[in-house]
Amino acid sequence: MAAPGQASSLRVVTTSADLKSLVEAVGGARVEVHSLAAPDQDPHAIELKPAQLARLRDAALLVRIGLDHEPWLARLKVDCPVVDASQGVRLLQTETPRLRAERQAHSHAYGNPHYWLDPQNARPMTASILDALSRLSPADRPRFEANRNAFLLKLDTRMKDWAARLAPLRDTKVVVIHDSWSYFAERFGLAIVGAAEPTPGVPPSPAELAKLFARMREAGVKLLIADPYSNPSLVRQIAAKTGARSVTLLPSGDDYLGLFDENAKRLTR
Ligand SMILES: [Zn+2]
Repeated sequence: MAAPGQASSLRVVTTSADLKSLVEAVGGARVEVHSLAAPDQDPHAIELKPAQLARLRDAALLVRIGLDHEPWLARLKVDCPVVDASQGVRLLQTETPRLRAERQAHSHAYGNPHYWLDPQNARPMTASILDALSRLSPADRPRFEANRNAFLLKLDTRMKDWAARLAPLRDTKVVVIHDSWSYFAERFGLAIVGAAEPTPGVPPSPAELAKLFARMREAGVKLLIADPYSNPSLVRQIAAKTGARSVTLLPSGDDYLGLFDENAKRLTR
C-alpha cells in the first residue's frame, strides 16, 4: 500500500530469479518484483500457475533473458513493455548452426543464452533495466541511476574477490553437462573442452559418450561441471569412467552477487 503522497510500486515480472535480483538492485524501494521461475527450476521448461499469469497481466514491465531461453513465453499474451536483457551483451556461439525448428527446444539456436553467468554482463543488463524503469517513471531516473551505480561498485569489489579465489583454476580443463558455463569460463579462465550434451538439451547417445570419455582422458580433464537439473546417473557415469571430480554449480540464484560467491566456493572446495 502506498503512503500518502508517495507513488505506488512499479510492478515488474521477470523470467528468472537473477533478473529479479538485478531489477531490485536498480529499482530499490520503487519496484515490486516477481520471478516466474524459481532459482532451482529449469528455466527452459516451466509451467505457469494461474496466480503467475495474473501477475503477468498486472505487470508494468516484463524483463526476460531473450534468445531461446524462454520458449514458453511465446505461448503467452504479454501486454506490457518487455525488456530483453540480452540487448547490449556480447553473445557467445552465435555462429553455431543449430536446429531452429522446434518452439519447445532450447538448443542455443540464437547464441548461448546463459550470459548472466559472466558477472560483468550485469553492466549492460542493468543499463537496459535502468532505461526501462526510467521510461515508466521518469522522475525516478536519478534515483535508479544512483542505485545502479551503488550496485556496480559492489560488483567491482566482489569481482576482484572472485577473480582472486578462482585464479588457481585458470586454464583448468573442464567438461560441462549442459553448455551453461561458457560465459563464466571465459571470464574466469576455465578451459571448456566439451559438453556432454551434443546439442544443448539433448542427452548423449552411448556412442557420443564413448567419444567424450576418450576425449576427456586424452586431454586429462579432471573437472566435470553439472547443473542442479543434470541427470545424476549421467554425471556419476562420466565421473566414474574418467576419474573427473564432478561439481554442481548454480546457474541461478535469488541474490545475483551471492550466486558467484557460492559458485566460487564450490569450485575451490
Ligand atoms: Zn542452455
